[in-house]
Amino acid sequence: MTRSTSAGLVVALILAFTSSGPSAQDAASVVATASNAMGVDALRTAQFSATGHDFALGQAPNPSSPWPKFLNKTYTRVINFEAPASRVDRVRVQAEHPPRGGGQQPVIGEQKQSQTIVVKADTPWAQQLEIWMLPHGFLRAAATRATTLETKTVAGKRYRVVSFIGDNKAKVNGYVSDQGLVERVETWIDNPFLGDMHVEAVYDQFKSDGGVQFPLHIVQRQGDHPTFDLTVTDLRLNVPVTIDAPAPTPAPPAPQTASERIGDGMYLITGGYAVLAADFKDHIVLLESGQNEARALAVIAEARKIIPNKPIKYVVNTHSHIDHSSGLRAFVAEGITILTHQLNTSYLERVLSAPHTLNPDKAQAAGKKPIVEGVGDKRVLTDGTRILELHHMKNFNHHDGTLIAYLPKEKILFQADAYNPQAATAAPPTPPSPYTVSLFDNIQRLKLDVARIIPVHYPADNRTITLGELTRWAGKSSS
Ligand SMILES: [Zn+2]
Repeated sequence: MTRSTSAGLVVALILAFTSSGPSAQDAASVVATASNAMGVDALRTAQFSATGHDFALGQAPNPSSPWPKFLNKTYTRVINFEAPASRVDRVRVQAEHPPRGGGQQPVIGEQKQSQTIVVKADTPWAQQLEIWMLPHGFLRAAATRATTLETKTVAGKRYRVVSFIGDNKAKVNGYVSDQGLVERVETWIDNPFLGDMHVEAVYDQFKSDGGVQFPLHIVQRQGDHPTFDLTVTDLRLNVPVTIDAPAPTPAPPAPQTASERIGDGMYLITGGYAVLAADFKDHIVLLESGQNEARALAVIAEARKIIPNKPIKYVVNTHSHIDHSSGLRAFVAEGITILTHQLNTSYLERVLSAPHTLNPDKAQAAGKKPIVEGVGDKRVLTDGTRILELHHMKNFNHHDGTLIAYLPKEKILFQADAYNPQAATAAPPTPPSPYTVSLFDNIQRLKLDVARIIPVHYPADNRTITLGELTRWAGKSSS
């Protein structure tokens, strides 16, 4: 050990001593003072309506945009701090005009959503946080846990920051103002794509009611962009509320990975997000990675079973939405090159390098850096026999950096999120989804001769999707 390192260690030990010794007691007194100022003991239940938006995490229209928003036409929330339990009921409608990004846009009509959380010993920590990240919830949790204290300045305002360690081993920090109000709570949770993801709730416009201070403006951010932004309109404190625990839903059985030959050396792997495997002369190319690590590992195993003794050289990412990218780290762990549209290159390099310490995956264990290669308007992968074309989708507002794949010999088009088939009996919407129209227009622009369309979101009835079906859903004549 060098002299300078040991000197640094001494300094670190002194700092640790000065901040951890008296701070635990100071933290407890800050929690007590804030609890008194906010009326934690006086607040048993809260019920409110709100106006505002929620936002779809990981579904931005391009890597530099915030998450796309949805209008909450109605929103009600009830919280029982003593149970503790929470229930949210909302009706959401399309808010982006024209539709931009994913999250099942365009939402047609009204979409009802509910979330009930009744905290029990086995309730996932990320769900419990919906209560513990509320100002009064934070102070209740902090009062029962070991806490520490430090001082931080945010946007020129000084806060005493009380911290405890959550059940997922991440710090939970509550920012207490000089008035004793918890104005900000932050922590980190595991996200299969984004890694140790920052979650932050910001509270302002506090209203005083019967000795309780309750915020009328609530913003939550996940992965550095808002996930909801609500203005409370009708706040009622300490009214009787009933929050029934939801009936437990049994976990669906894990889908079995299956594969079928769809052309010379071309295979379709189903049992989750659809994947194509191409058997090139001395390597394998996969189109799409599956929706999570488990699916990606199953896909990799299936590809190696149907095409033995060849390395997987490339995995093609259709676009960088969270559900189409959460399997990529399984490929990073194996050192496999990711092909994506060039708009996504630096984004994927950055996100796929993020630490996953809270729930380590194979890439975290392997310590591998992602290898990402950008594709422009067109790239043809071929060994002289097999041909696989990648094309950039133009004017596709679902995601600006989307690739479609075309197999010219098989006349097969592989696409994600431009046309997600419904039941065979479903009627096309009027007007048609602009994303489906864009796919139709791109097929025309590229003059592709398409006999079959393979959607990544594969139809539940396994039917073959024809150009005629797409044409109908794009609102064009198919006669
Ligand atoms: Zn998408």
